[in-house]
Amino acid sequence: IIILGIESSCDDTSAAVIRNGVLLSSVIASQAVHEAYGGVVPELASRAHQQNIVPVVHEALKRAGVTKEQLSAIAFTRGPGLMGSLLVGVSFAKGLALALGIPLVDVNHLQGHVLAHFIKESEEDTDQPKFPFICLLVSGGNSQIIRVNAYNDMQVLGQTIDDAAGEAIDKCSKVMGLGYPGGPIIDKLARQGNPDAFTFSKPHIGGYDYSFSGLKTSFLYSLRDWLKDEPDFIEHHKTDLAASLEKTIVDILMDKLRKVVKDTGITEVAVAGGVSANNGLRNAFREHAAKYGWKIYIPKFGYTTDNAAMIAITGYYKYLDKDFCSIDKPAYSRVAL
Ligand code: ATP
Ligand code: FE
Repeated sequence: IIILGIESSCDDTSAAVIRNGVLLSSVIASQAVHEAYGGVVPELASRAHQQNIVPVVHEALKRAGVTKEQLSAIAFTRGPGLMGSLLVGVSFAKGLALALGIPLVDVNHLQGHVLAHFIKESEEDTDQPKFPFICLLVSGGNSQIIRVNAYNDMQVLGQTIDDAAGEAIDKCSKVMGLGYPGGPIIDKLARQGNPDAFTFSKPHIGGYDYSFSGLKTSFLYSLRDWLKDEPDFIEHHKTDLAASLEKTIVDILMDKLRKVVKDTGITEVAVAGGVSANNGLRNAFREHAAKYGWKIYIPKFGYTTDNAAMIAITGYYKYLDKDFCSIDKPAYSRVAL
């Protein structure tokens, strides 16, 4: 079974080929055009996807050594994401599937982030989570704790009631006048700073839910006060600010996750999404594994942010369930997992 995966939900155009669950190729074209604006500009993203989609798919097939006639099915991100971006990948996938006379498999982008843990780079690659496991999904648009019962059976136990963790990092980074996206920049600065230099407010919210908007405001107001006394405050304390912000976010994420693990008794714990690239969060996972006996799963850096390999592997498992998508199904910008 050979699956072509296509991802175009935000600002990365990506295609990947998977044969019987093993990755043959993965190509990602990122869009530098948004850097100048400090965030993704939807119209520019759609236009870049239009330019990239054909060469990216072509390159993925070429690197996999597979012709389009050998494909068993095409898996594509149907949502959630930016409508104009999604439309490019969705239309392309539908057109190609129709021309080749093969099935289409629609993939929920968030399910893809979780199932990135099942991407195998070779047959020997077998260190994967066992069901049921708990997955912390932290990305640019989502922060959720998910109970994963099977490939196609997931239950959201808790989620953010306002901003996502990645969004909070990106906004605080913007306030500091750093570049976009802020996540990798904050991560790098934080490695050289003191995480206990500053304290920012943490949310008081019950259950397994998250909230990050209060932290964002606390960060903004604290900075404003400090800048009044010292105009070069950010320049002088860049690394400490980054380290303290990162620590606050990691603490918030891990506090709720620990609660879920304790209450469910499930100690297979994974992390997924763009923020799972963060070194502070990765270290916190390793510490929890050592301290509480968790069996942890941390994705390779390349599978944390958006990629089509995660879409292709999700498509593969849906294909095995014969869970196909008819051609009249539209893209969706918002949907629950
Ligand atoms: P969603 O998947 O929720 O639709 P998205 O696709 O935009 O959102 P991802 O691509 O999964 O999100 O992740 C992007 C986010 O990850 C950004 O907010 C980015 O700043 C953050 N990020 C990337 N690398 C790091 C890092 N090393 N440390 C912290 N955050 C990071
Ligand atoms: Fe994503």
